[in-house]
Amino acid sequence: MKLINCTQCGSGDFLRDGGYMICKFCGSRYAIEQGDIGVKESTISLNSDINALLQKCRKDPKNAKKYANLILDIDPDNLEALKYL
Ligand SMILES: [Zn+2]
Repeated sequence: MKLINCTQCGSGDFLRDGGYMICKFCGSRYAIEQGDIGVKESTISLNSDINALLQKCRKDPKNAKKYANLILDIDPDNLEALKYL
């Protein structure tokens, strides 16, 4: 997997989340290119992405809004996420 830098803040520090890399600093989300790590099922990983982010909203209320915005990037009508805005 190649190293990337966040295009928003220039950070090279990322969290893996499903098929995405999430910038630890500004929360920008980047899709990991297929072939890099062998991402197979995009729809399933999207749903698990949303679930993982919703869990973070509950566990980390201080940053819930940031995670909720990530969810809304994926699923703009997600009612759970809208509650955290
Ligand atoms: Zn960033």
